[in-house]
Amino acid sequence: MNDIRDVIIIGSGPAGLTAAIYAARANMTPLVIEGEPSSTSDQPGGQLMLTTDVENFPGFPDGIMGPELMTQFRSQAARFGAEFVTRKVTRVDFSARPFQIWVGEDQYQAQTVIVSTGAQSLMLGLPNEQRLLGHGLSTCATCDGFFFRDQEIAVVGGGDSAVEEATFLTRFASKVYLIHRRDELRASKIMRDRAFANPKLEILWNSQVVEIEGDKKLSGVILEDTVTHIRESLSLQGLFIAIGHRPNTDLFQDQLELKENGYLVTEPDTSKTKVAGVFACGDVQDDYYRQAVTAAGSGCMAAIDAERWLEEHSQ
Ligand code: NAP
Repeated sequence: MNDIRDVIIIGSGPAGLTAAIYAARANMTPLVIEGEPSSTSDQPGGQLMLTTDVENFPGFPDGIMGPELMTQFRSQAARFGAEFVTRKVTRVDFSARPFQIWVGEDQYQAQTVIVSTGAQSLMLGLPNEQRLLGHGLSTCATCDGFFFRDQEIAVVGGGDSAVEEATFLTRFASKVYLIHRRDELRASKIMRDRAFANPKLEILWNSQVVEIEGDKKLSGVILEDTVTHIRESLSLQGLFIAIGHRPNTDLFQDQLELKENGYLVTEPDTSKTKVAGVFACGDVQDDYYRQAVTAAGSGCMAAIDAERWLEEHSQ
């Protein structure tokens, strides 16, 4: 545990595991601190562990289940010599090299670090939410819109994400409800105008989802009017939660530069953070694309950046 590793990768979604594959194949023997299975935000494999069918990851023409895809990523990294610690990082110190990383009482040291701790979709916190995720309930319209052809679905939220997703989903669904808790959208004017002009989109103002219904698959929601508190049920085949994302950057608050919205800052077109030798990839630094394939691509960049940095800095 006291030896100094060439690279430690924190996080094991598509970004971290792609970085691990590349770093392992460059003989850097990466140590991946992959997270803890019991956690919903730090689980090994990242957000794809919470999805079912993935149909947009290239190379799988028949689709693949999210957890199966991540098992394959992990096996590929292990095959080339990546090592894994299945626990959560509790503290880091990037103020001097070698960098220090703690997992509880255990301390690890590395010449370079790749941060790929991802992000999490904010959820409503309702009882059936986690159980129905991937079974009619989704947090990604780009990923799952296709499954709701000619069906009635709803999007929760009133920001740019929700309005953009609702508008996008009208390409597939027969009807899209936008459920917003106020009487005014937060989304920008251009998005709002687009939504108002869309005949397939109906906005349910002053509405809050108070229950998500469904046994094996989502079947509907109970809505409560936020003004009158009157409740009514709405049958749906799909529900998209689009109330924002939160990057997993708590560990790095006083260590790395963060954007105002909490995402890590990386130098444009690279994975470099402001600390030389610390790189970031995947959703922890991407508040725009948020796709498995873009995360994987940025993981490859981080491994190459770390390898070149080591080469330049080894005596
Ligand atoms: P956001 O701007 O924070 O909006 C979140 C929305 O969800 C708000 O309307 C909020 O309601 C609602 N909400 C939050 N918690 C809720 C809860 N518990 N129950 C019900 N509703 C809840 O998040 P975002 O839409 O993901 O956007 C994040 C950032 O990315 C923004 O800066 C946005 O402009 C940007 N973005 C830009 C684009 C684009 O330009 N193409 C696309 C997507 C996102 P309230 O309004 O009542 O607070």
